[in-house]
Amino acid sequence: MIIIKTPEEIAKMRVSGQTVAQVLTILENNIRPGITTRELNAIAEEECRKRNAIPVFKNYPNSFGGRPFPGAICASVNDEVVHGIPGNRVLKEGDIISIDFGVLLDGFAGDSAITVPVGEVSPQVANLIKVTEESLMRGIEQARPGNRLGKVSHAVQVYAEKHGLSVVREFVGHGIGRNMHEDPPVPNYGRADRGPVLKPGMVLAIEPMLNMGTPKVLTKMDDWTVVTQDGLYSAHFEHTVAITDRGPEILTLR
Ligand code: MG
Ligand code: MG
Repeated sequence: MIIIKTPEEIAKMRVSGQTVAQVLTILENNIRPGITTRELNAIAEEECRKRNAIPVFKNYPNSFGGRPFPGAICASVNDEVVHGIPGNRVLKEGDIISIDFGVLLDGFAGDSAITVPVGEVSPQVANLIKVTEESLMRGIEQARPGNRLGKVSHAVQVYAEKHGLSVVREFVGHGIGRNMHEDPPVPNYGRADRGPVLKPGMVLAIEPMLNMGTPKVLTKMDDWTVVTQDGLYSAHFEHTVAITDRGPEILTLR
């Protein structure tokens, strides 16, 4: 069931979304060769404390029966697609890191992800990051009343594939509100004429995960970290977007 939010609830989600955006900006400014993903996680936890925000990924249950997610951020490096666990890994020049982060504040969730180069990266990898963010924006443009959700999904896929990237199928975006994950699922692929008709008050987390090679992924033995099957790099961008009478409003805009 898709939950329609009132204007008052959207106002609260705007605050949650902006909190996520602020923390992601702080994290981005700390990304450099030599920092560990654990240090980035500690920064995120501290910034949550300052803002009285609950880091909503922390202790999230594992769908394979493994341990709950131990971090406030997902830190996915290079061929890691999503759900990387922050730890001892030291970022080095030429790496890319996707940081996915969400909070619960005043009863409402916000969820956003960015992919950031560590120092200089190759032109192909820079292009992966750029096209993934652009594909998200193409999808968001379609998040308006009267459109079917499939228009969002289709716009992301067409843009990604036109630029030679592949779309991960196993993980998708989602509705968001009092819970981080609500209906409907928001795939990054598929036909434009499918899915529910979008209405004002729906709020979606749209989050393309694009790969340089095969779209196929697998989950590592830690029951969390998702990697590309061919070891090529993957990028991930996400925004929490409210459908309004005037069109899409990006609640996590930085
Ligand atoms: Mg996310
Ligand atoms: Mg999400």
